[in-house]
Amino acid sequence: MPMYEYACQKCQHTFETLVFGEESVECPECKSRKLERLMSVPGRPKSDSGSLPMRCNSEGPPCGPRCSRF
Ligand SMILES: [Zn+2]
Repeated sequence: MPMYEYACQKCQHTFETLVFGEESVECPECKSRKLERLMSVPGRPKSDSGSLPMRCNSEGPPCGPRCSRF
């Protein structure tokens, strides 16, 4: 389930919410649906690194199946 951070265009409230469908999100403060979706959540690095290639030492051999040099 994707979790997104939104910024309300009406009251400037920012909040995070799980999104189950398209555009079914409203501001918990003022119930406005004029929200801006923030693509990155500052200060909350995702621990999910499965979709990113691993960094490895460019001097050594490829480090594995996810090596970015493959
Ligand atoms: Zn609001």
